[in-house]
Amino acid sequence: VFIVFEGGDGVGKSTQVAMLASLLASRGVHHTVTRQPGGTPLGAKLRRLILDHGHGDVAPRTEALMYAADKAQHVYEVVAPALERGEVVVCDRYVDSMIAYQGAGRSLGLDEVALVAGWATGGLLPDLTVLLDADPADAVEQISIKDRLESAGVDFHRRARAHLLHLASKDPERYLILDARRSREDLADAIAARVAEVTGR
Ligand code: C5P
Repeated sequence: VFIVFEGGDGVGKSTQVAMLASLLASRGVHHTVTRQPGGTPLGAKLRRLILDHGHGDVAPRTEALMYAADKAQHVYEVVAPALERGEVVVCDRYVDSMIAYQGAGRSLGLDEVALVAGWATGGLLPDLTVLLDADPADAVEQISIKDRLESAGVDFHRRARAHLLHLASKDPERYLILDARRSREDLADAIAARVAEVTGR
């Protein structure tokens, strides 16, 4: 079973991923926790390359292809093998982030970016996507994330947010949309309930 967390910067995805991981561990469910970008050794290098702003003027298409390369390697090396072993895979960001950030945020064209992301991942889709939703201006507590938000611009993040919601609205059965301003325990409970339905455990 493949479970993905999506949402803007600073909404608390990593906290919820960690909380779900400890719940699965406490129930003895075999699972793999991972993320994009950066879930493989090559992906970790790509992540540093992508997030390092020392390369001058990086073309949006170049950036998108680096994200796509990370995804291709990640599905091949981590996600698909873990699913083959029958594990629950919990992944922090996946294809929707790329469609929202590179497609909507960087205005590269939603259909084209979706095509590239789908090609990179061999069309593998999550069984459940938890979308932690908040306005970018409300989401941010950590200073480092504030910096990131300001460097890309709040409009970029607002476009990405709107598109994440749009993707979720097209396929409601596969998404759990939660207001990220709810308490972390409250969110964890809602996520646990839905995960139990999806995994049957
Ligand atoms: O959430 P995480 O820490 O992995 O994201 C790192 C940064 O990369 C964030 O600022 C996020 O907005 C950005 N990102 C992006 N496009 C993606 C995935 C992440 O711009 N497809």
